[in-house]
Amino acid sequence: MLTMRSSSVATEVLSTVEEFRGWRRRLGATTDAGPKALLGFVPTMGALHEGHLSLVEQAASQCAAVVVSIFVNPLQFGPNEDFQKYPRTMESDLKLCQEAGVKAIFAPSVQDFYGAGTDSTTIVSPPKALVDRLCGSFRPGHFDGVATVVTKLFGVVEPSRAYFGEKDYQQLTVIRHMVHDLNLPLEIVGCPTIREKDGLARSSRNVYLTAEQRAQAPSLHKTLTDVRDRSLSGAMSLHDALAAAKQEISSLPGVVVQYLEACDTDTLEPLTQARKPMVILVAAKFGDVRLIDNLIVQ
Ligand code: AMP
Repeated sequence: MLTMRSSSVATEVLSTVEEFRGWRRRLGATTDAGPKALLGFVPTMGALHEGHLSLVEQAASQCAAVVVSIFVNPLQFGPNEDFQKYPRTMESDLKLCQEAGVKAIFAPSVQDFYGAGTDSTTIVSPPKALVDRLCGSFRPGHFDGVATVVTKLFGVVEPSRAYFGEKDYQQLTVIRHMVHDLNLPLEIVGCPTIREKDGLARSSRNVYLTAEQRAQAPSLHKTLTDVRDRSLSGAMSLHDALAAAKQEISSLPGVVVQYLEACDTDTLEPLTQARKPMVILVAAKFGDVRLIDNLIVQ
């Protein structure tokens, strides 16, 4: 166990389930974060940026203590995806958590967390209606991997509230449904997407973009606002607004749109007519880099 100290806060880094459980018991016994105080939890895969930190900030404003997990979960990556090369920046992650007043980081190894291995673990499988669409249709098994790791993390951390970004809207929806369906004893809090000045949603994967791709990438956000404005103003039908926007991004060199859809904010069923509320979601590959974004229209 490693402890990072500044004058007022100490962030503990726990790297096994057993160590974390020990810390969790001690936290429960202290007076400033006793059994009744709220424990906020922010699950991440590390390479922390402003987006992650906004979740930590929201958790800190509502809870007595905040735990961040840093775990690149092999179960949610497909065989040809970027599990091996996913950015791992533990040292700067620790510093950012320390500065943000995080009480503890849970950062287990794959070996410790999955024991006998990912092939022989129990899988939590969300309903097909939620996962066989949007990202799920391009990343088979991804949401089983997410639901499984999040359930396991909840079992170790035992949070009162867990904070997820609206940036990964389908993930947030799947987790909300899972917590409801399985009667898990915690509250899920969705937090707004943090963007660069030019509109690009902050993502750990943005570091993979070449200068040219980085210059093209804000087109994703613009596409979403165009679809919203054109369809809600009546200038175009939803169908035509989606088709026009899809064509506009697809015309950028090296960019391939995987999906661009407007959906029900709870069931993710595709809509045929623009309305409020709705969520417009997009995924596109800029070369090898897959970016996602969405716009919630209230
Ligand atoms: P990740 O490390 O990519 O698994 O993300 C961990 C959490 O941070 C997830 O709940 C994400 O939705 C959230 N997150 C990632 N990027 C952003 C962002 N730009 N704004 C808000 N939340 C984000």
